[in-house]
Amino acid sequence: MNKIIDGKKISSDIQNEIAIEVTAIKASGGKTPHLAAVLVGNDGASETYVAAKVKACERVGFTSTLVRMPETTTEQQLLIKLKELNADGDIDGYIVQSPLPKHIDEYKIIEAIAPEKDVDGFHPQSVGRMALNLPTYLPATPFGIVQLLERYKIQTSGKHCVVLGRSHIVGSPMSILMARNETPGNCTVTLCHSKTANLKEFTLKADILIVALGKAEFVTADMVKEGVVVIDVGITRVPSSQTKSGFKLLGDVKYDEVAPKASFITPVPGGVGPMTIASLLLNTLKASRREVYPPKGL
Ligand code: NAP
Repeated sequence: MNKIIDGKKISSDIQNEIAIEVTAIKASGGKTPHLAAVLVGNDGASETYVAAKVKACERVGFTSTLVRMPETTTEQQLLIKLKELNADGDIDGYIVQSPLPKHIDEYKIIEAIAPEKDVDGFHPQSVGRMALNLPTYLPATPFGIVQLLERYKIQTSGKHCVVLGRSHIVGSPMSILMARNETPGNCTVTLCHSKTANLKEFTLKADILIVALGKAEFVTADMVKEGVVVIDVGITRVPSSQTKSGFKLLGDVKYDEVAPKASFITPVPGGVGPMTIASLLLNTLKASRREVYPPKGL
């Protein structure tokens, strides 16, 4: 029996739960969680993503601050702004929207974010704490996948999880999370990439297949076994005569032919994608509660 994992619904459930919690915090006189987003330049997609994040903050009752900086901002100017955000006692967490203009070193910027405010979970300290299974902020997409597995009560312990793609934002952290002594986790993990020989040999052995390649409809029915759990992270925009916009979104999995073999599968759109914002809001709530880095002396 195939079950579609409804990321849109789970994301909306999580946001409703957060909204209830924020109402309670406010009613008891607590501090309203505050997320800031830094947007450098005028990249169209980044504008859309940041606008969606600000809107989500409003929906759940968070305070949000959008810091706009021009495309010509120097690395030094951005570092000074981050210093201000690090020192601002009202801001619980913040993100720096990527991509940054080419003249700015993204890693230098990530390292300048105070780890206790790193709600995107990209700081090396956050990544290290994740690998050590210490309290931390998990990166949005992997955290979203963990939430989906948890909420659909998908058994992971003792399973073979195959991850396709080793990017720092999806594949690599996903492989770490699935191997941890945790729930979800406790999988035997195989991490595949573009240099993997005989990829199909691995995908056919997957009980759980997590695909983050950016190659539309790459995974076909002959590559998976019956009963597999498929998490499709890929999003590729392709021209379409059937939509008003002239485009449609495709995942990395050939959904129509793989879905009948899968026990659970995420659709594209409506699977992993909507979870990103829910993860960011959860991390911001954690930051405002000082869950990851409790105040010293406690
Ligand atoms: P990325 O940085 O481009 O990494 C792609 C990975 O796929 C690399 O590790 C690459 O291997 C591997 N790869 C490419 N071709 C392959 C092949 N033929 N066989 C095996 N491995 C291959 O991508 P990303 O940032 O992780 O994103 C992946 C996809 O997820 C994209 O479509 C992106 O838009 C989407 N995405 C979605 C969300 C969401 O919220 N749903 C979030 C983030 C990303 P090498 O390392 O060897 O080059």
